[in-house]
Amino acid sequence: MSWSTTADAPAATGPLADAHAQLDGAIGHLGYDGGIRQMLATPRRELMVSVPLRRDDGSIAVYSGYRVQHNFSRGPAKGGLRYAPSVDLDEVRALAMWMTWKCALVDVPYGGAKGGVAIDVREHSTPELERVTRRYISEILPIIGPEVDIPAPDIGTDERTMAWIMDTYSAAVGHTVPGVVTGKPVSLGGSLGRASATSRGVANIALMAMSSRGMSPERTTAAVQGFGKVGRDAARFLSAAGVTVRAVSDIDGAVYDHRGLDIARLSAHVDLTGSVVGFEGTEAIDAASILTLDVDVVVPAAIEGVLTAQNAGKVQARIVVEGANGPTTKEADAILRDRDVLVVPDILANAGGVVVSYFEWVQANQAYQWSERDVNDRLEERMTRAWHDVVDYAGAHDLSYREAATVLAVQRVTEAHKLRGLYP
Ligand code: NAD
Repeated sequence: MSWSTTADAPAATGPLADAHAQLDGAIGHLGYDGGIRQMLATPRRELMVSVPLRRDDGSIAVYSGYRVQHNFSRGPAKGGLRYAPSVDLDEVRALAMWMTWKCALVDVPYGGAKGGVAIDVREHSTPELERVTRRYISEILPIIGPEVDIPAPDIGTDERTMAWIMDTYSAAVGHTVPGVVTGKPVSLGGSLGRASATSRGVANIALMAMSSRGMSPERTTAAVQGFGKVGRDAARFLSAAGVTVRAVSDIDGAVYDHRGLDIARLSAHVDLTGSVVGFEGTEAIDAASILTLDVDVVVPAAIEGVLTAQNAGKVQARIVVEGANGPTTKEADAILRDRDVLVVPDILANAGGVVVSYFEWVQANQAYQWSERDVNDRLEERMTRAWHDVVDYAGAHDLSYREAATVLAVQRVTEAHKLRGLYP
């Protein structure tokens, strides 16, 4: 176990460099001083752990695990837990910082955090993943809790992972603590509507963005990158709203149907085969081309850094709605802006997940379950308010939506920090 409270030399490229550049832009716009910048650029707490696993064949493997708590000024830290081979400290730092901005932007009383284990879930059995989860949580147990830091699902983790976390934490403290995680199964105190909340928010925001550009859903086409927890339901909600979803992709490939994909049938195919690839009646296309297809709206909903200086000039869509965190690099952002492509930033577009995570935490703390309709109405209200906050600020100050969203968030976090004061 190693603890760190100071930032290393800043990364030159990658998600952390992009996150720092966004922060610097907001600090410059707001005229804040270097001390505030340093405070916001530096995670409050970072924990790196080794996660040893006894594999099913008796051999031992050791994985690297991380939990970064970026900021607590507005409340307990909150953020997902990612299982992917590419997870490293800088990625987790960037994702934790974006969580701080996201929570502030949609005005939920949390700071930001993120966790990860550098592991390929597809190479492991369910019992192995359970052992990895329980060991990782045991290692980070001193710094999580319902009033400290509350994990949630992200890439490679799901409600089953959250159930193991809740159980491991509860066993350690000696009583059941549903509020230690969100994104739990409903039967364990999860919120109705949480599983599809991120996607519902992505679709809501996409529809508002389309409307702001005078586009009607029935005459709009879309492509979705990633068909996991976010991409799958985002495609479903967009399709249900009348949008023609022509293409979707996952890590194995991409499928295309000019007339629009039948998302329900595609979902059944994915449940059966584990991939979108081979879906009957569709054309297999190059997965990398999904972002540059001839469609009106593109929803990257997989990983970060996929829209780059190399492909941003080829994007044909008029709107990019960031379902994923950090899918657009700094260079791509500038190119898309020059080309008048509207980019709806991650901290706004995919905030539906943390909004309903907050509702789940509130319900867990009150031991009272809201109806799904209640959850969805409150979600829509928050997303709509955040959308208008960003659009109004961007318009008033001639900023991109990402710049405006980051400025609003940085302003709110800084205000909380100043009101609390610096201790001692
Ligand atoms: P997931 O693991 O459920 O799904 C990820 C999807 O992306 C899968 O279809 C996978 O095959 C695909 N994918 C993975 N690597 C890829 C690659 N290199 N190229 C193309 N496709 C690839 O994950 P998720 O929860 O849907 O998360 C997706 C993104 O949304 C992440 O950026 C995550 O941080 C963000 N996000 C998730 C939530 C949430 O509530 N789950 C909330 C906010 C943001």
